[in-house]
Amino acid sequence: MKRREFWKGLLAAPAIPAAAAQEAARRTAGLAPITIKEVRVIATSGGGRYRWIFVKVLTSEDGLYGIGSASNHYQPHAVIAALEKHLAPYMAGRNPDRIEDLWQSGHLRTYWRNGPVNNNVLSGLDMALWDIKGKRAGMPVYELLGGKVRDAVPCYDHAGGRDKEQALDSVRKSIASGYRHVRVQLGNYGGGGFIPKGEGNRPEGGFAGPAFDEELYVENVPKLFEYVRTHVGFEPKLCHDVHSHLTGMNAAEFARRVQPYQMFFVEDILPPEQIAWYRHIREICTTPQAVGEVFSHPYEYLPLITDRLIDFVRCRVSAIGGITQARKIATLCETFGLKTAFQEGGENDPVNQLAAYHVDISSPAFGIQEENGFPEQVHEMMPGCAQIRKGYLYGSGKPGLGIDIDEKIAAKYPLPPIPDGGPYGLDRTLDGALVKP
Ligand code: MG
Repeated sequence: MKRREFWKGLLAAPAIPAAAAQEAARRTAGLAPITIKEVRVIATSGGGRYRWIFVKVLTSEDGLYGIGSASNHYQPHAVIAALEKHLAPYMAGRNPDRIEDLWQSGHLRTYWRNGPVNNNVLSGLDMALWDIKGKRAGMPVYELLGGKVRDAVPCYDHAGGRDKEQALDSVRKSIASGYRHVRVQLGNYGGGGFIPKGEGNRPEGGFAGPAFDEELYVENVPKLFEYVRTHVGFEPKLCHDVHSHLTGMNAAEFARRVQPYQMFFVEDILPPEQIAWYRHIREICTTPQAVGEVFSHPYEYLPLITDRLIDFVRCRVSAIGGITQARKIATLCETFGLKTAFQEGGENDPVNQLAAYHVDISSPAFGIQEENGFPEQVHEMMPGCAQIRKGYLYGSGKPGLGIDIDEKIAAKYPLPPIPDGGPYGLDRTLDGALVKP
């Protein structure tokens, strides 16, 4: 083709069909500039024992606002103060359309960054901004993230019991209610590894409660999975959460012993301080590792992802900086062939769950989502709450995150008193030393 014909051809072809160009112009022209008018904190027990903190970002446009989750069960008042005294004054008057810029400036404004409290604060802001963006576009957030790549979000259920027979019953119930993925525990975290209260040789006048013993755990819990597999076969996908109770070679030995039972994943087999051991575990067995529930700093998991030392990144969306950060992690996972398994947990809130949902449903790196259900009064307080049916999580399909909060109902449920400052319950060994959670 001659040069002149080439240019003629280009000029002749309309760059965008006229109707589409008009529609694009209408959409952008229809979006009047807006500013952040108020950052409001809504703290509520949800009518139960929750310690939820929601961020409501109100804009200069009448009735246009977004909601985010900044919940932190163990330090809610620190988060509330950080939101009210530090974030709200900084954000007033800014343009909520600039999510990435506000995220970056919210991240750097504290100078010291990636602390758990500020990442909660940032998550609350970030989710609220995506909610606003979705409402402005008239679309659910997942549409803005590239659209659905799956029809709904599969979740894993929680099963367990005091002994293996009870645990098996519980697994069967999960399967009967539609779950393909089931996490199985023996009692509380560390269950299967406890020397009962008052038993064992203990220091005089020392710790008398149930005492955790690593070798006992490594001995007992793999037998639970042998028992469950013998009865339900290999079709259900089974998980287990060690909750960081093991150290070094005991973690490696545990991973090796459960390998014959083809785990979907073993979660937090080590505490976050000991992630270097994952390389050794990788060398001796193929049990998939899920890690990251207590991570809040993104560079904690970076080497685990880039060196392919684990299989699932399972941080909590509201602990790491919201949808903006979760989406970046999902992209990293996709690049390096890992998967996401965003954490929920019983104390978590419906806004965080939906933030995870929008990333889950639009990400090719999705692996699984932890389930969480809420009592009736929460559905009343928060219309648009996601729903789990037969093991799948469904959003409301409404624009934005698709959820709202009735502030009058929330106000009826103030935060409950927090005894002892609300610490996470810690286990101890026979000699009274702490076990990492
Ligand atoms: Mg966990």
